[in-house]
Amino acid sequence: MPVAALHRPGRADSLPALRHIPKFSEVTRAMSAALSLDDWKTRAETLSFRSQAFINGRYVDSASGKTFECVNPATGRVLTKVAAGDKEDVDRAAKAARAAFEKGRWSRMAPAQRKKRLQKFADLIDKHATELALLETLDMGKPIRDSSAIDIPLSAGCIRWYGEAIDKIYDEVAPTGPETVAMIRREPVGVVGAVVPWNFPLLMASWKIGPVLAAGNSLIVKPAEQSPLTVIRIAELAAEADIPEGVFNVVPGFGETAGQAIGRHMDIDGVTFTGSGEVGKLFLRYSGESNMKRVSLECGGKTPNIVLADAPDLDAAATAAAWGIFFNQGEVCNAGSRLIVEAPVKDAILEKVMEVGKKLQPGDPLDPKTRMGAIVDETQMQRILGYIEHGKKEGAKLRMGGGRVKPANANGYFVEPTVFDEVDNKMKIAQEEIFGPVLSAITVKTPEEAVKVGNDTIYGLAAAVWTRDISKAFKISRELRAGVVWVNSFDAGDITTPFGGFKQSGFGRDKSLHALEKYSELKTVWINVGK
Ligand code: NAD
Repeated sequence: MPVAALHRPGRADSLPALRHIPKFSEVTRAMSAALSLDDWKTRAETLSFRSQAFINGRYVDSASGKTFECVNPATGRVLTKVAAGDKEDVDRAAKAARAAFEKGRWSRMAPAQRKKRLQKFADLIDKHATELALLETLDMGKPIRDSSAIDIPLSAGCIRWYGEAIDKIYDEVAPTGPETVAMIRREPVGVVGAVVPWNFPLLMASWKIGPVLAAGNSLIVKPAEQSPLTVIRIAELAAEADIPEGVFNVVPGFGETAGQAIGRHMDIDGVTFTGSGEVGKLFLRYSGESNMKRVSLECGGKTPNIVLADAPDLDAAATAAAWGIFFNQGEVCNAGSRLIVEAPVKDAILEKVMEVGKKLQPGDPLDPKTRMGAIVDETQMQRILGYIEHGKKEGAKLRMGGGRVKPANANGYFVEPTVFDEVDNKMKIAQEEIFGPVLSAITVKTPEEAVKVGNDTIYGLAAAVWTRDISKAFKISRELRAGVVWVNSFDAGDITTPFGGFKQSGFGRDKSLHALEKYSELKTVWINVGK
């Protein structure tokens, strides 16, 4: 998720990722920024949680009555119990979504009306930004600074952008000749299920909600079980924005139950998934074994961040490399987890990366000064620590971090910023997605070797190259097999540009007008106008 660059001192407001956030949200951001640790703690104590499924315009318990515990990863304490949706709940949501679709409550509403309501929805998210940021931080462990300045405003901005797009997209008339009119129309797919991860809970959901609804579909969102609270909360904001009942549904629950039920449902027309490759492959199977629903997958990455000896600014490259792996505790699909450096500049780059990393020690996520928060849960923390042990055993040189830490007043799941040097690209820490603050530095002798190593992974989500030679930059950007390539930058992004991967990073693109293609069917209508 292209926002790490926001953390470079003094640059936040000039970055492209913020271009689409209107003034209203800047006011709420400024309000959030003015709150102290004590203010946030007081608010946290009195915060109430929505914890039910949202089906057909109202909050309901799960059909089984079962719930699961939602834990604050910074403290290990239970925040609330959330409805554990399963097959029956997905079926209820699918029926409501289908009825709304068939009745044309949303799918046949005038585009200008749909636009107005999506914009109102975005405004309401902005209006409740402080509360939503707090929910996100308590639920997922990310710094309040990030949820206030990034997750919530970008979520609102995304939904608003797709709302604005609704009445700017035209259908086509094919040049078939005077005897016929052949119209190529875009129609909604029908009922779409969105199954999303925990690392940017509301933002990853918004990348689906915006274009799915803009294209006229009905939607069922299944948030990750680790972080369902913000998506559940915004369901009532959708209703307040007059998005008709049955159009926007939320079924919280576990992957194997609620997630699988969405994947296998015979009356859900499409699934848009963000998460691990392993689960992405399951969705392909679910589709094949059910109704051949359309599947789009945004999966993992092992982003190569290539720094060549002729990089124009080593300091900038190293700072971006540090933020590229430590931002959001390294729980970022396109985290620059492999730093591939030409030998002459390796030591200089690594020293600077560690200098930045040392300043990013994890702290209480509710403290506005904290730049690195908690890992989402104990399982993920143990997974990260397991990879670190593996790296040591495989012979990589641990240069920084490598352990669990317990910051003052925060007794939960925290991992230090970690740097490995002398990594061989065949090692597990260079091949598998760790999804934590662990950097693997790999030294290469030539740009050709850098590209070869960069591409030597099953993933192809993103890549970066730092060089002052424009020809080299262009050639390498063409050779890198990735959905996004950054030249002399890392993590630049904007709602106007598509995001998604090559190879086992998935297929289909989120963001930009291209995302609408996933949620629309093309229909050709031939009209005979001959004599
Ligand atoms: P995950 O695959 O474990 O879970 C993602 C979602 O799938 C969750 O809602 C989960 O409940 C559901 N799920 C889990 N098992 C399932 C099953 N058997 N059947 C159906 N649904 C199931 O991923 P995660 O741990 O939540 O997120 C981390 C992963 O997400 C990383 O691999 C990361 O790279 C990826 N990610 C990718 C992008 C992108 O845009 N490419 C963005 C963010 C995260």
